[in-house]
Amino acid sequence: MRLYDTARRAVVPFQPRDNRVGMYVCGITPYDAAHMGHAFAYHVFDVIARRLILLDVDVHHVRNITDVDDDILRVARERNADYRTVGDAQVQRFDRDMADIGLLPVDAAPRATMHVAEMVRWIARLHEEGYAYEQAGWVFFDTAKFPRYGRLSGLDVATMTALSRERGADPDDPRKHNPLDFVLWQQSAAGEPSWPSPWSDGRPGWHIECSVLSTGELGHPIDLHGGGDDLIYPHHDSEIAQAEAIGVAPYVTHWVHVAMVRHQGEKMSKSLRNLVFVRDVLERVPGPTVRILLAAHHYRESWTYDEDELREADERRQRYHVAMQSDATLDSDDAQDYERQFLERLDDDLDTPGALRIIDLAAAALTHGAVRSRGGPVKAEEVLGRLLDTIGARAARRSESVGPAA
Ligand SMILES: [Zn+2]
Repeated sequence: MRLYDTARRAVVPFQPRDNRVGMYVCGITPYDAAHMGHAFAYHVFDVIARRLILLDVDVHHVRNITDVDDDILRVARERNADYRTVGDAQVQRFDRDMADIGLLPVDAAPRATMHVAEMVRWIARLHEEGYAYEQAGWVFFDTAKFPRYGRLSGLDVATMTALSRERGADPDDPRKHNPLDFVLWQQSAAGEPSWPSPWSDGRPGWHIECSVLSTGELGHPIDLHGGGDDLIYPHHDSEIAQAEAIGVAPYVTHWVHVAMVRHQGEKMSKSLRNLVFVRDVLERVPGPTVRILLAAHHYRESWTYDEDELREADERRQRYHVAMQSDATLDSDDAQDYERQFLERLDDDLDTPGALRIIDLAAAALTHGAVRSRGGPVKAEEVLGRLLDTIGARAARRSESVGPAA
């Protein structure tokens, strides 16, 4: 299988070690419902996992939950609720949404709040080794001590500074030695959850969470680490710095990043109020339609959510459904041929749009029924079922009778 690696800036073979793959994907901050941007990113890693499983690779898929952060605390204050209640409810909704679009369950979903002691130990080590400094109860990573900082994104300092401001950090914070320095530990305000540390009663920064949770679950190097492409800088550049500064190196073998989904001309984001929630889409179409819509887009190309495309995806699902319900069969040589071409598309940097075109061809051949058996017949349901299953778009039995979209 060949996949683009963000660090090497090229499509390269993705090589499992000893037929095992540890895959870490940055997960949600549970304070709002999952939108189509989440669905697209997690769909991509689900297809990678499914493809590797077909290759008999033992995949250990980890997706963390950032269950304490400024956004959750703000929502909890607004609702006069405990932040854990807010987070637990959102995690349940997220799990339901992802199950309903056919994502395989992950093997581990570590929560930040369950691992704060490990994060404190990691930060203490960075501090001892001179990569971090304390300012009145807060601890910052000293980016000047790690000259490779920013190499993953390859951005210049001015762009990194602008992006860190846009993405919630404060490069103008006078406590920082350098505008790009980032928070490892922050003192909690009165009434906020806090954990003890040598510096203050506080909580960890976001970046340290993923260095600690990923290596805690998978050791290092992590075979495949991924997330949305808005995480390359600062999140993943900062994860690398925290890990490699203290010898957890190489931290990651292969980086995979998924492009953003746009709506109304902008990246889908909470602050722009242009979110399309997965649950709202699922009110109108079944899960396999959502997966077909997502698979129609290559993971490295940003795309715009569009109602016409949702309708087309649902028509495609119905065509597949009709073909699968037919009594038609394919000759086993032809069935194998479709499967080989389909897998070739997936193995070519996860060309899911190309893979869908192969399913279209197989479905059309079955629907038109012009197939004569040479090597023994293979049933329509078996041929298409295998292909659809690999992109997570095989209907659950109970929803197979779902009709056209409203
Ligand atoms: Zn992360």
